Amino acid sequence: MAKLLIIGCGGVAQVAISKCCQNSEVFDEIMIASRTVSKCDAMKEKLQGKTKTAIKTAKIDADDVEALTKLIKDYAPDAVLNVALPYQDLTIMDACLAAGVDYIDTANYEPEDTDDPKWREIYEKRCKELGFSAYFDYSWQWAYDDKFKEAGLTALLGTGFDPGVTSVFAAYAKKHYFDEIHTIDILDCNGGDHGYPFATNFNPEINLREVSAPGSYMENGKWVEIPAMSIKREYDFDGVGKKDMYLLHHEEIEALGRNMPEVKRIRFFMTFGQSYLTHMNCLENVGMLSTTPINFNGQEIVPIQFLKALLPDPASLGPRTVGKTNIGCIFTGIKDGKERSIYIYNVCDHQECYKEVGSQAISYTTGVPAMIGSMMVVTGQWKKPGVFTTDEFDPDPYMEALNKWGLPWKVVENPVLVD
Ligand code: NDP
Repeated sequence: MAKLLIIGCGGVAQVAISKCCQNSEVFDEIMIASRTVSKCDAMKEKLQGKTKTAIKTAKIDADDVEALTKLIKDYAPDAVLNVALPYQDLTIMDACLAAGVDYIDTANYEPEDTDDPKWREIYEKRCKELGFSAYFDYSWQWAYDDKFKEAGLTALLGTGFDPGVTSVFAAYAKKHYFDEIHTIDILDCNGGDHGYPFATNFNPEINLREVSAPGSYMENGKWVEIPAMSIKREYDFDGVGKKDMYLLHHEEIEALGRNMPEVKRIRFFMTFGQSYLTHMNCLENVGMLSTTPINFNGQEIVPIQFLKALLPDPASLGPRTVGKTNIGCIFTGIKDGKERSIYIYNVCDHQECYKEVGSQAISYTTGVPAMIGSMMVVTGQWKKPGVFTTDEFDPDPYMEALNKWGLPWKVVENPVLVD
C-alpha cells in the first residue's frame, strides 16, 4: 500500500491518475497537485466513488522548491511522480531530496528559457564535446546521482513509452534473447487521425521543439548529427500499415548508448504525414516555434507559447482520434554464436484507450508506464539509491505489468529490418 504525489494534471497525468486508481491495491492514496487546481479537482470528481484509492488535490507551482518541499513533507508520500513538464524536473528533484522521497518522471530535463546565458554556456560546450544539439539531455539529471545515493533515494527517469518502455524492451532483449546486441532501431508509429489540419499529441511546446531539432543517432559510441528530417524510411507496421518515418534525436539513445556501450548503432524513427511536416516547416519558417520572447503591442510573448494557446489541447483529442499506434524496437545481434534479430512492440488503439480512460493513445502509452514505473519504485521492485533510467533494472516485472495494465507486447523473430 503506497501514497503517491502526482505533479501535473495534463494529458499524460490524467491517464497515470486513472491507472493508479485502477490499481488501488498498490496506490491506496494519491494526491494530484498542479498549477491549475481546477483540473485536479475535476479528475478527483470524475474518479471518486469508482475507485478505492483516496484522492486529494492541491495547487502547486513546481518551480517553487520551497513550497513544493513543504507540500511533500505535509502529504508524506512514498514517491513523487512528475508528469508536469521537463522544465520542472530539477526543481522537483531538489524538493524530493529536501523532503527525503523517491522521484519518478517521463522526460529528461530541458530549460524553459533556452536564451539563459548560464544554461547556454553549458549547452554549447556539450554540443561541441558530444556532437548533438538537442536542447534536452540527461547530463543535468545524471549530475544528481551522488545526491540521491547519499540520501538513499531512487530517481527513476523517463518511464513513459519512449523513453521508458523502449529501454525496458532493450533490457529484456539483452536478458532473454541475445549474448550481444549489435543494433537497436526504435520505431514510433502513430497511425491515428484526429481530423484537425494540425495538432500535436502531447504538449505542443515540448513536442515541436523535439521534432524540429536536428536528428542524430549513435554509431560506435559517437553521435552522428544530421539536418532535421533528412533521413526518411518507409516501414510496414503491424496494425497500421505502411508509413513514412524520419530519424530523430531521442532521449533513450543517450541512456542506452551509455548503459549498453557494446551496441554498435542506436537509431530512433518516428512517423509523420506530409501535412504535419508542411505545417511544422511553415510554422518554423515564420518564427512561431521560437522560444525567444518578442514584444507585441507592449506585451511580451513567447511565440511557441502563443502557438500552444492556438492549437487544440492534446487532452481534448481523445474523442476524435481513430486508428492505432505501434511503438517498439528492432534488435539485431548474436545468440549462441548465431545471428539473431527480433522486434518487440505494442499496438495500441486510440478509441479503445478513449473508452477505457477518456484519452487518446499517446497519453495512454505514456501514462500507463508512468504508473508502472511508480509501482516498481513504491513496491521496492525497482529500488536502489541513485539516478537511473528504465534499462538499469530487471525488466521482467515491468514487462509483466505492461501485459496486465493495458499495453500488451509481442516478440517477432526475423522482422523486416530498417536499412
Ligand atoms: P500537458 O501540457 O498536457 O500537461 C502538463 C501539466 O503540467 C499541466 O497540468 C500543467 O498545468 C502542469 N504544469 C506545468 N508547469 C507546471 C508548474 N510549474 N507547476 C505545476 N504544474 C505545472 O503535458 P503532457 O501531459 O502532454 O506531458 C506531460 C509530460 O509527459 C511532459 O514532460 C512530456 O514531455 C512527457 N511525455 C513523455 C512521453 C514519453 O513517452 N516518455 C511521451 C509524451 C509526453 P496547467 O494545466 O496549469 O498548464
